[in-house]
Amino acid sequence: MSDIPYAADSGYSDPDTLGAIPPVVAATYCAHCGRSANKAGHSACTQALATTPPTYCTTCRRELAVTSEGQQWTATCKKHGESSGSVAA
Ligand SMILES: [Zn+2]
Ligand SMILES: [Zn+2]
Repeated sequence: MSDIPYAADSGYSDPDTLGAIPPVVAATYCAHCGRSANKAGHSACTQALATTPPTYCTTCRRELAVTSEGQQWTATCKKHGESSGSVAA
């Protein structure tokens, strides 16, 4: 565990490689279970996310601080900031 920037970090860009080579495929995690989003088996998670706010940051897998008001939710990652959305009634 470290806070050294890496290619998947949205706040980090290397001017030498920017536009020259395709960006490294972003490391993404399931917002519901926190496992790699590239692995199969998230159909239940996708369904759950329609009715519940996310639990994990999809970029760094930190647990999100979620507040919700009615169907609107706001989730805050310590590193990547705030995201918001709404759930199905
Ligand atoms: Zn999942
Ligand atoms: Zn994050």
